[in-house]
Parts: sequence; C-alpha cells; structure tokens
Amino acid sequence: GKWVYAFGGGASEGRSGMKNLLGGKGANLAEMANLGLPVPPGFTITTEVCTAFYDNDRQYPDGLKEAVAEALSKVEGVTGKKFGDTTNPLLVSVRSGARASMPGMMDTVLNLGLNDETVSGLAKLSGDERFAYDSYRRFIQMYGDVVLGVPHHTFEEILDTYKDDRDYVLDTALSAQDWKEVIAQYKAAVQEELGRPFPQDPQEQLWGAIDAVFGSWMNERSKTYRRLNNIPAEWGTAVNVQAMVFGNMGETSATGVAFTRNPSTGERKVYGEFLINAQGEDVVAGIRTPQNLTKEAREEQGSDEASLEEAMPETYQELSDVFSKLEDHYRDMQDIEFTIEEGKLYMLQTRNGKRTAKAALKIAVDLCAEGKISEDEAVLRVDPAALDQLLHPSLDPDAPRDVIAKGLPASPGAASGEVVFTADEAEELANQGRQVMLVRVETSPEDIHGMHAAAGIVTARGGMTSHAAVVARGMGRACVCGAGDLRIEKDGSKFSVHGREVRKGDQITIDGSTGEIFFGAVPTIEPELSGDFAKVMEWADKHRRMRVRANAETPLDAKTARGFGAEGIGLCRTEHMFFDADRINVVREMILAESEQGRRVALDKLLPFQRSDFEQLFEEMKGLPITIRLLDPPLHEFLPHGEAEIADVAKALGREVKDVKERLSSLHEQNPMLGHRGCRLAVSYPEIAEMQARAIFEAGLASAEGAADPVQPEIMVPLVSTKKELDLVKAVIDQTAAKVFAEKGSKLNYTVGTMIELPRAALTADKIAHTAEFFSFGTNDLTQTTFGLSRDDAGSFLPAYLRQNILDQDPFVSLDQEGVGQLVAIGAEKGRSVRSLIKLGICGEHGGDPASISFCEGVGLDYVSCSPYRVPIARLAAAQASL
Ligand code: PEP
Ligand code: MG
Repeated sequence: GKWVYAFGGGASEGRSGMKNLLGGKGANLAEMANLGLPVPPGFTITTEVCTAFYDNDRQYPDGLKEAVAEALSKVEGVTGKKFGDTTNPLLVSVRSGARASMPGMMDTVLNLGLNDETVSGLAKLSGDERFAYDSYRRFIQMYGDVVLGVPHHTFEEILDTYKDDRDYVLDTALSAQDWKEVIAQYKAAVQEELGRPFPQDPQEQLWGAIDAVFGSWMNERSKTYRRLNNIPAEWGTAVNVQAMVFGNMGETSATGVAFTRNPSTGERKVYGEFLINAQGEDVVAGIRTPQNLTKEAREEQGSDEASLEEAMPETYQELSDVFSKLEDHYRDMQDIEFTIEEGKLYMLQTRNGKRTAKAALKIAVDLCAEGKISEDEAVLRVDPAALDQLLHPSLDPDAPRDVIAKGLPASPGAASGEVVFTADEAEELANQGRQVMLVRVETSPEDIHGMHAAAGIVTARGGMTSHAAVVARGMGRACVCGAGDLRIEKDGSKFSVHGREVRKGDQITIDGSTGEIFFGAVPTIEPELSGDFAKVMEWADKHRRMRVRANAETPLDAKTARGFGAEGIGLCRTEHMFFDADRINVVREMILAESEQGRRVALDKLLPFQRSDFEQLFEEMKGLPITIRLLDPPLHEFLPHGEAEIADVAKALGREVKDVKERLSSLHEQNPMLGHRGCRLAVSYPEIAEMQARAIFEAGLASAEGAADPVQPEIMVPLVSTKKELDLVKAVIDQTAAKVFAEKGSKLNYTVGTMIELPRAALTADKIAHTAEFFSFGTNDLTQTTFGLSRDDAGSFLPAYLRQNILDQDPFVSLDQEGVGQLVAIGAEKGRSVRSLIKLGICGEHGGDPASISFCEGVGLDYVSCSPYRVPIARLAAAQASL
C-alpha cells in the first residue's frame, strides 16, 4: 500500500476528501496547500499504518521506513534545508491527526531535529542564539515528556530553581547562556532518569516521536475520549510530520488560533486569539492569556493589549483573506491555527469548527441565507444531540444574586453545584447523585471524566480556546474560563476571591453565557428558543417521514411535549397515575383485597381518578393520537416497604400490619422484571384491565362530545409474548367498550395493539399481528431480555464493558442494532406480512437517540416516541435520517 502522502510546495498527494486515510488534519493540510495557501511542507503517515501497527503487535508495515525517508527528502527539497544538517538544519513537528478531531488527547512534538550541533546551525541561520537555545530546551522538555516518559515536572523544577537562584521572574529574562546551562541540566536529568543520554540522532528522534504518536492512540485519555464521543478504536490516527515555522522568533512573530465565526453565538465575526513571540501549544495550553485578533473584540473586552489587526495590520489583512477563502471553499465555519514567522504568515491547520448548538443553528441558517448551502444541507449541519444544550436552563433574571467573580463566557447555560477541585472528586460525588462544580486552575485532557461528571466547570486560567472551553462546549457543560481572580489553595480545600472564601462543598452557580460566578445556588429558568431554532425545525419537518410522539402521562408533560412539536403521545404509562398521593391508598386497598369482589370495590373508587386523568390528557392532546398502555409493573411496587410506612398504611386502610406484611411477602418475587407484570396482571386480574378500559372510554366519550376531531385512543397491552395473551386482554377491552358505548348511547373509534418488548413477541409477530392493530417496540425491555441484562442492575458492571470495548455503547442508551435491532426488524417485517398497514412505532428510550432513530427510519417505522425534552432532537434526527 501507499503509506505516506506528501503535501506543500505547490502540490499535495492528498485532499480534503481523504479524511479516513489521512485524518482530519492531514487531509486539510493537503487541501490548503492545493488551494495555494502558505502551508509549510510535510507529509502524512496514514491511519492504515496505525491500524496495521496495532494488528501486527506494534510492528510497522514493510516499506514504511523507505517511504518516510523519501517524503522527508521531498520536504528538504522544498525548504532547501537538510534534516540533521549542522549549518542549515530542517526541523519538523510531529503531530497526531485522527479522522474525528480529538483536541489535546494525543501527543505532539515540536522542534524535532535539534541536537548539540544543529542548534548552533539554527542560531547562525536565525541570527538569534537565544531563540535557538530556547527552542532546543523546549524540544528536550517536550520530547522528554512525551516520548521518553520523563515527567514534565522534572523539567519545570529545574527551570524554576534556575530562575529562583537568579531572581528571574519571566522566562524572557533568560539569555542564550542561561538556556545553555538549563539544557545541560535537562540532559543530565534525562540521563539520570533513563540511564542513557538524550538522543542526538535526528532519525532516532523522528522515529521515537512517530512511535509515541501512534502509541498515544491507545493511552487512557484517548480511550476515554473515544468512548464519550463514540469514536471506534479501529479508525486509528495518522501522523503528520511538517517543516517547523517559528512564532517565537521575536516581536514580528506570533502564533494563534481563530474561528471564522463566533463559536459560541454563531455571529458572523472572526473570533480568535494570538500570542506574540510564542510557539504553537502556548495558546491552546492556556498558560499565558492571549490577545484578541480584532480591534472590535479587544474594545469589547476592554483590553489594552493591541489586537493583531492593530499590531500587524498587513498580516492581519492577509489572514482575513485566508479566512474568506477557506469559508467559501469548505462552506462552513473554520477553526484555524496559524503562525507568523518574522512577518510571514503560515497556515498550520483548518477544520470545521466545533460550536455550541445555538451557534450551529445560526451558522446553518446564515450560510443558507448567504447562498452557500441549501436547506437540506442546513438541516444536516446541526447535530441533533447538541440541541440538548438549548434546552438547558438559564438564570432567573429576578432571582437575587451575589457575584463573586467573572471570567470568560466559555460555554453557555447556567448551572449550580457544590465545589470540588479534582476530576476524581467530581466523578465520585456525581456517582452519588450530587450536582458538582469542578473548579480548576486549568484543565487538561486527564480531567475529562470529571468534566463529564460535573454540572459546570470553572477555570482560573486560559482563554476561550483553552482545553476547558473547547471540551465543555463540546459536551454542552456550562463553563466559565480564565477567572483570573480566583486563588485556589494547592491542598484543594478552598478558593478565595476578592477577600471571600469558598470551601470545598459550598454551592456556587455559574452563567456560562456571561462568565459570571455566583455564591450559592441561584434559581434558573427554562430557555426560550431562538428564531434560528424554529427555522431549522421547520426545514426539518418538511423532510421528515417518521412522526415524532412523546412519552408522557401528566398534562404538564403533555403540554411541554406539544410545545416542542410532539405529534401525539406514543406511550402513556398508566402506572405513573397510580402513585399520586390522592389515590395510592386506593391502589393499595385493591392490592390487599382478598377476593375479586373486594378488588372491584377498590377499583370502583379508582375509576373516577383514572377517568379524570385521561380527560385532562385528552384535552391537552386534542386532535392528536394517544397510545395508552395498561398497567405494567408488578403490584409489590405499590406497597410500602419500611416498618414505619407499613404501619401508616395499615392504619390508613384499617388493616392489620400483619395482613400488609403477609401480602407483601406473598407478592415478593425473585426476579420481578420477569415476573408478574404487564399483561400477566390482566390475565390474573382482568378486572384491573376492565377498569382501565372503562376509564379510557368514558373519558374519551366525554371529550368527544361536540368535538370535530374526537380522540381515537390506541390501547396498548404490555409484555405480551403470545397471541393468546393478547386475545384474552383484547376481549376484556372490547367487551368493556361495548358495555360503555351501550350505556352512553354513543361510540368511539379505538384500536388495540401491543408492545413488542420480548424476543418471543418479535419472533412470532406475524401471529400476534392477527390480533394487534399496532405495534410499539419497547426497546428497553427488549434490550433487557435480548441481552439477559437487567435494566436495574447493569449500571454496576456496564462501565467495565464499555471501557474494554466489549460494547461500543450502553445498549440502553443507543439501540444495539446488530442484535436487538434484528428483532425489531423481524418484528416489523412479520407484522407487515399479516397486516400490511400495521402502525409501527418505538417507545423505548432509544426513541430519542439520533443513531437509533436513523435505524428506525431504515426499518420503516411510522413514528418514534421519546421524552418531551428530546422531541426536538428526534424531529431533527428523523429529518436527517430521511435525507
Ligand atoms: C420499554 O420496555 O421499552 C418500554 C417503553 O416500557 P417500560 O420502559 O415502561 O418498561
Ligand atoms: Mg417495557
């Protein structure tokens, strides 16, 4: 195979469409060079090499060494420099670049090729000895840390001690001679740590770095990141080797990052940051606080530090032309890295920029209005899962608030929680169900598990493109960055700010849209959706084939769902109506009854409650279809468990404590999920189904009176595994209907269908479809029973399965298409073979998951049903699945 692709010097072997092979960074470097933009020459070692490397016990494929040598000599040709040459040395960077961007997850080495001899060549060449030795010590530090495994702090301690001894404060105080001495100490430290010297041979350095980048694909933080972002391990990373350009060659040199539009709001304004006399990672690392790119942004921030537009107007103009060129070419907002070496601009990276959901909507709508993309494309540009961010709360404007500090508005949304100072603490408390706020000086890729667990993130250092900001935006966590007034105690016990103290465990609130930090928990309110949201939704609805319904039982949930565009209720779980305080004791009376007679007395008392519930629901969902499911959970769930509660209930019902306990123990089941629940209850106690059917029909008739578009209830029987069970329950429903219609002298259209949530039901769906007028796939139970994996207990061991890649994803979150999906497909096909127009839907949690929704489109379901807040996500995902 071809393992290496060259770029730069006027022509590239790759292009942007080759992301799978070259990774995002490599493909886009090739594309930029093809566009004639100033890209330092280099080459990309493909992702196939990474895959081959891991498939063959960490051995490289044959021919790779030769291909790398050839590509390197091409770079030498273009630059006129030579790798390892003592008078005119070529230096390179070595960076990872996967198919999907994984910010900061993998390793990077800069200034590679420097050694005791080439460093003097660099000094002569640049005419700047101090710069050359500074570059060399940076290289030893980075290579030592990333490739040789000498801890970062070893080098930091040497440098700190060196500076302290001489009363230096800033690194800029060190002269060339100082750096030489530091370098000697660095090399001694490497020798001490490893028992061998720092490698002087540039070839050895190069292969060490390539090994390290491929190796970093399997480090823990990369694995975690892939797991959280559903990136398969098989994709592999590419390695990019590129001629170095220097942003740290003095006051006419700089390095920076930019978004062509604001990644937070989507506003059509260049948004970026840069540092004069700095190298690559300094900006993203968040160690120095960078300056603004544009004058306007600087003025908005009230900063006195000149913007790039003001400091280097000509270069800024050139850069701004590149922005337009790239946006026009990629037809999307770009996230760009650049370096200016002694006034000359170089492009180091471009990619479609990560953005908040709000920005995604605005950018999609704007690009469509600018004629750059079509409506269909606009619909495809917005990640449905990201819409979740928009549905996040903001601060109640009327609530009293006590601002303690302000940082940068890094990721929108308001959140409060108890302060913790480490990622591990954040995860631990979140696992206990507590809401936490992770407060750090800065974050690094090692913190992502804690950032994921936290409700919000605060950092004391770093800009809008720092690690914390980028990661929080991607995750949809509220985040305030660079709150420079925070003084965080090293021991992780508290922070202080403007003379006030906040201890670990104290509540704070942040507003990620303004950058403010408040003492205590400030109340929040629900969001208002923007016009861009409505527009994209309108376009999505035009293209959507599947309907979207909601799982809802209370009038409030139904109203919320309708507000979000639900086109009906796909699952009304009637048992939720049994728990309400005004009737739970009647439910218990029914369960404790010793005879059918006794049960009927209690059921008669329950009827008016159920009827009025349904009346309210029908009112709220007027004109839309409603699927009502008969009682599902085992009866013991309704009985009290603690001694005190049992005593209370016994007293309230006028029964002996002993009776209640006896009934409890007779209802006890070893495995209630597979026990006396669902239609099995209706088989044992048909009078319960009868009462529920009566309530539905009486409510239906009442609300149908005088209505132009009367409700047509869809009555659904749960946990069916044989046709006969369904026949029996359907008979009870039909007889009750006939009775109620005769009593009231009026009729109602209704249908009776079933959940398909057991493998046997899916496999015999043709039989069941003779009786069932519709199916709703209950993929929660179907997943549980197909895997034999308890819904309630899997939490304790599933994480180990995910960590070890036994499963790519939690199957209760995203449908296991390979296994459970097959049963859905079989069920749908068998159902249609008997009843060609049978209505098919899904009401498990998967109904709100974009990947599962796309699967449902493939199977040809008529609708998906999900929780109210996920209705917009489902609408967009369904549209994308149709396109
Ligand atoms: C299901 O099993 O998928 C379902 C929707 O029912 P429940 O979650 O109520 O068991
Ligand atoms: Mg179920």
